[in-house]
Amino acid sequence: MDRTFLIKPVLDAEYPLIDYGKGVYLYDAEGKEYLDASSGAITANIGHGVQEIIDAMEEQAKKVSFVYRSQFTSEPAEKLARKIANLSIANLNWCFFVNSGSEATETAMKIAIQYWQEKGVYTKTKVLSRWMSYHGITLGALSMSGHTGRRARFIPLLEDFPVIQPPYCYRCPYNKEAPDCGYLCAHELEAIIKRIGADHIAAFIAEPVIGAAGGAITPPKEYYKVIKEICERHNILFIADEVMTGFGRTGTMLACEQWDVEPDIVTLGKGMGAGYTPIAAALVGDHVMEPILNGSKTIMGGHTLSANPQACAVSLAVIEYLEKNKIIPEVEEKGNYLKNKLMYLQKVYPFIGDVRGRGLMIGLEFVQDPIKKEPFPRRMKLTETLISVAQENGILVYPAGAGTDGINGDAVMIAPPLTITVKEMDDLIGRLERTFQQYYVQYAK
Ligand code: PLP
Repeated sequence: MDRTFLIKPVLDAEYPLIDYGKGVYLYDAEGKEYLDASSGAITANIGHGVQEIIDAMEEQAKKVSFVYRSQFTSEPAEKLARKIANLSIANLNWCFFVNSGSEATETAMKIAIQYWQEKGVYTKTKVLSRWMSYHGITLGALSMSGHTGRRARFIPLLEDFPVIQPPYCYRCPYNKEAPDCGYLCAHELEAIIKRIGADHIAAFIAEPVIGAAGGAITPPKEYYKVIKEICERHNILFIADEVMTGFGRTGTMLACEQWDVEPDIVTLGKGMGAGYTPIAAALVGDHVMEPILNGSKTIMGGHTLSANPQACAVSLAVIEYLEKNKIIPEVEEKGNYLKNKLMYLQKVYPFIGDVRGRGLMIGLEFVQDPIKKEPFPRRMKLTETLISVAQENGILVYPAGAGTDGINGDAVMIAPPLTITVKEMDDLIGRLERTFQQYYVQYAK
């Protein structure tokens, strides 16, 4: 190929050129087939090349692709907001559309701060979060992220927002097991609130199932009840970052439903447009909007392309497709099928220390010794090597944990499109097993 002018993630790396995608498969310009077991970045939730979405794009493009939200509203934006309000948890009725997950969390943070200001409280400006969390790449979102790797270069520009331990049961910082642990990691929230004062804290943000920074780290049943109770008692809003988990990834529209917890604000992204268009959102509770509706009546935020009719039409078509084909109700069963197969592989390949996750968001963590759970030395770059061996074997998996961060073990996520069939899951496992075999022969011994 001629020299490139495109800034890619690793500037001296060679990237295959993808020609087209169909369902769970992608094909490069040389005809090589890849099974997309990571839905790209856990985004292509309904697979590639779905005709209904292409039709919806065309239909909307023929009407109008862009109107400016300060001048007009549009039918797709109105319909999508109404649809999402009906689909999500009861009190989350307001939608603010943006274009990426980072913008959604950044918007959520600003709405939380504004909420307190409208109530006459101007000191509540910090947003607490957890180690091993990722809420986005913009400076506000990075300030709320406990992702050491992605923060490092920008630390002088970031807000100093405190973090608590994640619910990382596989490596419990307290060396205990749930539920007997008494959820000590969640109670760290209370300790921090007491230390810095609730008067300074607007919100606490968490991914219901931890994605990129940890690899599908899944909290025990009561965890979010403890978190929400502490937040309520101290007048702190709870923001659930469902950019990765939302839109059915874990088996329900929002993952929070499975922990029976009602956040004050929820962020969505990725699966919302399923990769067909950039679109994301902050969903805001009625009670959070109330002082804003009675006060300044506007939210200070938004982007030129917020509530873009073309993007909203695509997201509506994605929801229709999910509903028509009853895709979300099947996610739990498919996830269990895959997880059982992965647990079998764990017996054959003991460097798979942990298999975890919910629905079709499954994490594999790798260890030198499954009993001692000792991580591999970082210099081995296990995650990165495994991912490239997987790609050679025609399967795409998502880097997580030490492969993107550096404070915990190596991990990858298996998160194929929710539309995957049993036959395709068997193909996925076959390709993954060949990858582990090859990795063992070439690198592990
Ligand atoms: N929040 C979570 C939980 C994410 O996983 C991500 C991206 O991986 C983001 C926010 C940021 O989303 P985006 O990359 O679309 O800006």
